[in-house]
Amino acid sequence: MARWTELGEGVYARRYTHLDQTLGLVVGAERCLVVDTGGDEVQGAEFAAAIREITTVPWLVVLTHAHFDHHFGTKPFLPCPVWAHERCRAAMGADRETWVETFRREHKHELARLLEEAELVPPSHLFTAEVTLDLGGRKVTLLHPGRGHTDHDVAVHVPDAGVLFAGDLVEQGAPPEIGYPADWPSAIDELLALHPGTVVPGHGEPVDAAFVRRQQVTRS
Ligand SMILES: [Zn+2]
Repeated sequence: MARWTELGEGVYARRYTHLDQTLGLVVGAERCLVVDTGGDEVQGAEFAAAIREITTVPWLVVLTHAHFDHHFGTKPFLPCPVWAHERCRAAMGADRETWVETFRREHKHELARLLEEAELVPPSHLFTAEVTLDLGGRKVTLLHPGRGHTDHDVAVHVPDAGVLFAGDLVEQGAPPEIGYPADWPSAIDELLALHPGTVVPGHGEPVDAAFVRRQQVTRS
């Protein structure tokens, strides 16, 4: 089950019941940016088809990090540029077996099979700290705010809409899973310094900056 939420002109979150996941879309005049692709190729294809109901411009993909649910849906988007942090590739696929076993244990055999069969699509475009992409009439910035959820988290800033896609650095509906507790608070500071009006977590509903600050204070 999935549904769109429009967060600003041409800026969308797509919410999934499964894993309470949130994928993103930013539409420019010439290109659109797809933020994460889902956990298997069926979800990726569903997401791609849903995007095609909104826009026909070519897409670029950005992966917020290497956890399976954020990138194993990339294949249906190809051919296209796939952006990620330079440390993302090394981490991709590491959690696949664990999650296949988890799905089997939960008797979600179809999900297990889809994850097992999904093609690992490595990023084609890497960056270290920050890169700005021109979507045509609108610029978006991909940034690595330091280690937090992983050592290669990417956030996507859409300044003209005041929207920030935070990947799993922020979660709504569950506490964030923090891989680097000593570094995570400063990564959150980096994100809040952009003064986003809306922050889109990798899991859960879009929130405001005050929610993120509270999450930071409670967890640090
Ligand atoms: Zn994650």
